[in-house]
Amino acid sequence: MKRKVLIIYTGGTIGMEKDYETGSLRAFNFNKIFSKIPEMNLLECEVSVEAFADPLDSSDMGPNEWKMICQIIEKNYSAFDGFLILHGTDTMSYTASALSFMLKNLRKPVVLTGSQLPVGDLRTDAKENLLTSLYYASFYENDEAVIQEVAIYFEYKLLRGNRTLKYSAEYFDAYQSPNYPLLGQSGVHLNVDKDSLYRPGNNPFSIDTHLCDSVFFWRIFPGINLDFLSALPKMKVLILQVFGSGTIFSDQKTEDVLSAIKKSGTEIVVVSQCVSGGISFGKYENSNIFGRIGAISGRDMTAESAITKAMHLSGNPALEGSFVELFEKNICGEISPR
Ligand code: ASP
Repeated sequence: MKRKVLIIYTGGTIGMEKDYETGSLRAFNFNKIFSKIPEMNLLECEVSVEAFADPLDSSDMGPNEWKMICQIIEKNYSAFDGFLILHGTDTMSYTASALSFMLKNLRKPVVLTGSQLPVGDLRTDAKENLLTSLYYASFYENDEAVIQEVAIYFEYKLLRGNRTLKYSAEYFDAYQSPNYPLLGQSGVHLNVDKDSLYRPGNNPFSIDTHLCDSVFFWRIFPGINLDFLSALPKMKVLILQVFGSGTIFSDQKTEDVLSAIKKSGTEIVVVSQCVSGGISFGKYENSNIFGRIGAISGRDMTAESAITKAMHLSGNPALEGSFVELFEKNICGEISPR
């Protein structure tokens, strides 16, 4: 039996070609992908394509597009065995993280990929990324999907989507998942690390497209003028990216400013500027302020994951419990146990 995969093409370099007159990259009609990569006709799975009417640079992808993708997956969930989302690389980790929270009890693979060079380029990475992603998106054993979560496949590596970050604008090996092992690696064989794969509960698949836009992210730096922070309009969640394992300035003004923000009703979430490791309140004297003001530790979550998780949880009418309780819980493998 041939597995069926739906490609959802959203845009990005992977669907572009060089206009040799102007030298610029422009989107091509993605329905012609089979003629650009004839190897796709040799695949063991059956592929259908649903393309965004206007392919987007991924810097234009956001909550509206994440909702559209969820709705496309929901509409096609029973007709397809797996989903492959072709996406620009710049914000792919945000989309993967958001989708991981919005697609509930996923039992089928949702794989995202893109490329650093366009499909028509002689040295393109698009071909390998696309073809191997299709294998992962149609990978079943004993009639059960091997991947039952949102993953990114890029340059021979399969990664948990909500653990990734784009760390290189230059190398083909553009993504890292510093706080979680690889889900798989493709070499001569398609390998997966079964112990690292996420398994959902038994509830039926559904989508929850709630996303709150009253979430803000701020990176602390030595010498920052805290008056800018106190002048911010009131918001539901402020995510502070602080130093190392969770430190910030020890002066009274910092505590006064953050404590006033918290008392005004804003939840403060703390994540680290380090890409690997995470927040550990109480480790240094300079992190105790966060305990005193009632901030929430983002532990080892990526910034992308903390932002989209906060957007999904804040004010979500479908969920019970306080924001702190919901945020501290592991929803789909985005955060390590304490
Ligand atoms: N700017 C492009 C995008 O993210 C880059 C890429 O696709 O690699 O859409």
